[in-house]
Amino acid sequence: MQELFADFPEFPPAARVLVDGFNDMVLDYAIPDGMEGVGRGSRVEVPLRARGTTGTVLALVQPDSEWASRLRPLKRLVSDEPVVSPALMDLAEWAARYYAVPVEQMIRCIVPEPVRQERHEEKTRKVVVLQNWPDDETLNKINRRAPRQASILRYLHASENKREPLSDLGGTASLNPCRALEKAGYVRIEEEQVHRDPAGSEDFAPTQPLSLNEEQAAALEKINEAFDAGETRPLLLQGVTGSGKTEVYLQAAQRVMAQGKGVLILVPEISLTPQTMARFKGRFAETPGSVAILHSAMSDGERFDEWHAIHRGKARIAIGPRSAVFAPVQNLGLIIVDEEHDSSYKQENSPRYHGRDLAVLRAKLEGATIVLGSATPSLESLHNVQQGKYSMLRMDKRADGQRLPLTRVLDMRTEAKDKRNLGILSERLRMAIDDRLNKGEQVILLLNRRGFARALQCPECGYTANCEHCALPMTYHATENRLVCHICGFRQMVPPRCPDCHTPSIALEGYGTQKVEAVLRRCFPQARLQRVDADVTTRKNALRDILADFRAHRTDILLGTQMISKGLDFPGVTLVGVLNADLGLNVPDPRAAERTFQLLTQVAGRAGRGDLDGEVIIQTYNPQAAAIQFARRHDTDGFSENELELRQQMNFPPFCHMAVITARSEQEEVAALAMDTLHKRLLAALPPQVQISDPLPAPLAKAYGQFRYQCTLKAPTSRIIADICSREITGMNCGEGVVISLDIDAYSFM
Ligand code: ADP
Ligand code: ZN
Repeated sequence: MQELFADFPEFPPAARVLVDGFNDMVLDYAIPDGMEGVGRGSRVEVPLRARGTTGTVLALVQPDSEWASRLRPLKRLVSDEPVVSPALMDLAEWAARYYAVPVEQMIRCIVPEPVRQERHEEKTRKVVVLQNWPDDETLNKINRRAPRQASILRYLHASENKREPLSDLGGTASLNPCRALEKAGYVRIEEEQVHRDPAGSEDFAPTQPLSLNEEQAAALEKINEAFDAGETRPLLLQGVTGSGKTEVYLQAAQRVMAQGKGVLILVPEISLTPQTMARFKGRFAETPGSVAILHSAMSDGERFDEWHAIHRGKARIAIGPRSAVFAPVQNLGLIIVDEEHDSSYKQENSPRYHGRDLAVLRAKLEGATIVLGSATPSLESLHNVQQGKYSMLRMDKRADGQRLPLTRVLDMRTEAKDKRNLGILSERLRMAIDDRLNKGEQVILLLNRRGFARALQCPECGYTANCEHCALPMTYHATENRLVCHICGFRQMVPPRCPDCHTPSIALEGYGTQKVEAVLRRCFPQARLQRVDADVTTRKNALRDILADFRAHRTDILLGTQMISKGLDFPGVTLVGVLNADLGLNVPDPRAAERTFQLLTQVAGRAGRGDLDGEVIIQTYNPQAAAIQFARRHDTDGFSENELELRQQMNFPPFCHMAVITARSEQEEVAALAMDTLHKRLLAALPPQVQISDPLPAPLAKAYGQFRYQCTLKAPTSRIIADICSREITGMNCGEGVVISLDIDAYSFM
């Protein structure tokens, strides 16, 4: 019908608005005269009930004639140009359908909170500009009458640009003298916008492009060719650690920039270190402000500024973690996803999108070239290469000509251990560390656990102290002498005796970084040791300072969690020790082996980056595990081939798509009943090619005070799961006190 009348519309088009703060409430509004700039992606203020609110224009529509005259008008157009580009609107709509979430949730990612609220006015400062320089006689007169005014004038006259911020002229105390000078026509006071740069006032030493080795040159050539041809098929750059991928990214980005296009660079949350920032800021230091950094620790004001700098096209390169995939980079030419296998690209709360996957889609929508880089590509991406969907680029040699480090696996079941070391350090690893320290070299030790000890366990009856909200062992933190739940943060006192059998001595079982730290300090009293984990790095800039110290060799041993396993480049490190490689292997997760392999390979890449040969020692109770053996040989191809075959046999991703449905409630029966009911509905609704597990308590059976029930789905495409499950979840009307979530392409099965 609409098409029939499209030629002679009776009414001007109306704006179809997605209202903020509701799950997909869509309302039509009339566009008042003088607001012709309204279009798809515009941000607008609309009247709603008594008050007003804001929203995003989804489309311009021909209003239903019956309603057209009764539509309420838009109140305000937030900016003349659409805030959300058509490509990002498409991305939002596509992602909403793929991940079965309301479009509004995706728009929320694209227009971050400080921007949508417009709450954070851009910060301004007063600047005083010299207009007239009086002759000596006049200046003397001024000096006698108002010496402060005269000194302000002299200061301005002596300054290079004849302009200085008020703060440098004595701050607010100088405001009145400046006003007087302005009145007399000597100076002008201006308001200037201050850009809050999250990198602060740090200077970045400009760097020049390195001359590339053969492999790098070939990879860059392929990327450039793809860019010139407007090819959007992803390029998977598999380059061993130290092969110089970053240099290739930098030179590709530089060329794209030179052609007037924008660049988006995604990095894992954890490797958004000052080092990465400095590498990009340094290379583009000649065009200040061209690189915008987005990260989760930014203040609202910084986020607001960086977003606008990108949106306005002032910043042409945006770097950030997964959420930066939505950065409003103008005229996008190139996307780089570094460490594309990294699990931090998957968002673990709603909307549960995958940053890398959306980057691939965005490249397609915007006609941009996309490079996925990794030393240990995800099996998803390797599978896509085999299917011909991605092209492969390889860099198998380290850029600095170094050999990959020699890796030894120690079987902790048979290794000699010193009792006093509590089984943390084998004799051989202890001697290796000693040896390196004696030579004045540096050591990295990896442990994937936080806290002093894993759990409190009674040696008599086996009682363990579990979190009363999460039913998981709590971790003892020595600094505050408390047990802390790592899931919900719940804290409690250490019981003086076992609550069950009343034995007075209750022992700590397992170990974390703090306990390892204590052991190491005893074994190597001379060594300067620094621990890195989430506890240490809560302070702003703590990580930066710690890494700077290590780089400058002010510390000898860096002991840390997976935080130190990737993206860092320390020439002085010759030994990397992995204290407990088994961690993460024995969990019910189809990607457990892949993750362990990636972790070990990444951490091994930290050794021997300079002129000295590196060595890696892996302690394990599970020496035969494929992930450990292939990592020992740096055999990424071997591991991938082996693991892909297993995945195919088991019908696991990437050979299918997996989703997890979770029902959560404070009452266990309510969660269980909801899951059961939904499960029955799904059994009836799902086509036979979708497999669904029985409903079960989740491995993490209780978290944040809520009981969790789960079922897992496998299907040839995600779309079948998304469409049918979201329909059934909505249709079931599960009532108060239950939350049901659907995780498409799940990476966590806890
Ligand atoms: P990757 O990201 O692939 O692990 P990096 O980009 O960190 O590797 O590079 C490893 C080291 O090699 C860095 O110190 C880098 O400066 C250096 N490097 C990279 N390319 C070259 C080159 N063409 N010539 C000399 N050194 C290089
Ligand atoms: Zn808890």
